[in-house]
Amino acid sequence: MNEQPSDSGHTDGAIQRPMSRRAWIGAAGAASGGALVSACAPGAEAPGEDASASIVPLGNRILLRGGSVLSMDPDVGDFDAADVLINGTTIEAVGPGLDASAEVLDASNMIVMPGFVDTHRHMWQGALRNILPNGLLSDYTRDITGAARRVFRPEDARVGDLVSALGAINAGVTTVLDWSHIGNSPDHTDAAISGLQEAGIRAVYAFGSGAGGAANTYPDDIRRLRAEWFASEDQLLTLALAGGLNAGAWALAREVGAPISVHVNGAGALLSMAGVMGPDVTYIHCVNLTEEEWRLVADSGGHVSIAAPIEMKMGHGIPPFQQALDHGIRPSLSVDVETEMPGDMFTQMRSALTLQRMQANARAGDPDQPALITVRDVIEFGTIAGARANALEDRIGTLSPGKEADVIMLRKDMINVLPVNNAYGAVVLGMDTSNVDTVFIRGELKKRGGQLVGVDLDRVGQMAADSRDYIVRNAGWPETLLGGYLPGH
Ligand SMILES: [Zn+2]
Repeated sequence: MNEQPSDSGHTDGAIQRPMSRRAWIGAAGAASGGALVSACAPGAEAPGEDASASIVPLGNRILLRGGSVLSMDPDVGDFDAADVLINGTTIEAVGPGLDASAEVLDASNMIVMPGFVDTHRHMWQGALRNILPNGLLSDYTRDITGAARRVFRPEDARVGDLVSALGAINAGVTTVLDWSHIGNSPDHTDAAISGLQEAGIRAVYAFGSGAGGAANTYPDDIRRLRAEWFASEDQLLTLALAGGLNAGAWALAREVGAPISVHVNGAGALLSMAGVMGPDVTYIHCVNLTEEEWRLVADSGGHVSIAAPIEMKMGHGIPPFQQALDHGIRPSLSVDVETEMPGDMFTQMRSALTLQRMQANARAGDPDQPALITVRDVIEFGTIAGARANALEDRIGTLSPGKEADVIMLRKDMINVLPVNNAYGAVVLGMDTSNVDTVFIRGELKKRGGQLVGVDLDRVGQMAADSRDYIVRNAGWPETLLGGYLPGH
């Protein structure tokens, strides 16, 4: 079942050997078919290495000229038309008519804004997109975290993370918290991290448990992860703990300086954690929390991650936007699982907006009727609120001078939004992934002209299909695209 070499360190495990991105492009297409492990030769730099090496010949200073700029930073402001100056890995300046010697990218047909931030996604499932289109939570635990997870090889985790990360970048999601409960073994964990690294996304790797067994070393292995993969915080990948309501595991996370991300679905479950709750914890879903629990989250400075489409569809409960707002918490947004929902934030923002307004509108005439949230509010949820929850507020989430340059450019001249009459409205109500023209992560160009940079999509597709075939076969599911073989499929 494990076709990996036994040594799964950074350079000899899922990634066969270090190779520059340029070499990856050169090698792309050479490998096809066969065992995944032989098709996964592309390498990636260790995080933090080679951060300045762009595969696109842009200079060190890049001026995005004349876009509609939504900085999302109240101290900077938003602009009908302004420039954004990127210097190396950081944002140097934002404002109209910047005068700088720099390579100029015309942004006059673009909305320029911070990259979206997802605060909870199970990226190891990337090759299982839409495989459970009608599933409830019980179907998911039976088939995805049950049957499929048990047969996952390390390379399936790597491919899943790679595919999910590339899809995120393509959709303008520059940061994802990877809630990685595929810790079947340290090899699985290392492989998932390798997939993120290969994709070049900014990610919070939230180490989670996996299928049970002797090789499952959760949560203690987080000490090794800190030392081997996350010794530096100055890299695109940072460490967190994907935990349960377990004070011992939370203490371990704090020992290694990792923030904590936890699912909370039921009433009363949080009460036992009251003594250890803190501002380093993100609470996912939060449906059915009691008033006392909401006060504990708010008073401890905790963050909230709402996966509204999934919660509505799979039966978690009613997404608690209003409850979060009532307690002074600006919620972040999360995709959760691509087995049932797309990986973009346009879907998330529209869900948040419509759901909160449905709840507030239903209370018309009530003297305590809540305020209606706006399109700008949900862009904030999808950017800076996510950066806060992911403990990255000082680096990303707004277009602020000094922050790292995670910047996206969205096309205004497409038939789904032209002529743009309200920038926030166009982003939230009219746009989709097809509008995402350009993506920078830490100043590095990841998408340009609507195309991922340096990615051989045929090759990625073949790797994903091979992995999917293996998982489906070993989970005992029929090989069909028409579904219907089990409840939820
Ligand atoms: Zn989840």
